[in-house]
Amino acid sequence: MVKRFKRGYSILRSRFGGMDVMKKAERCISCGVPLTEVGDVSFYCPNCGKVLIGRCHHCRDQSVLYVCPECGFEGP
Ligand SMILES: [Zn+2]
Ligand SMILES: [Zn+2]
Repeated sequence: MVKRFKRGYSILRSRFGGMDVMKKAERCISCGVPLTEVGDVSFYCPNCGKVLIGRCHHCRDQSVLYVCPECGFEGP
């Protein structure tokens, strides 16, 4: 199962390879909208570095607070 998953993942990467170096979160952590638009950002929690946090351009704009589900870190 694990091997199959890894192979599928590498195929996916090679198809989009070179375009995006960074992983992207699927949803905004604050409001939950899917991240598709330009201006959205994804980054790992600055405190624990374990959780990929996504923010939509709206929540970035409004400096909406987010809470890391792993360590409870709050911030924009
Ligand atoms: Zn948002
Ligand atoms: Zn964290």
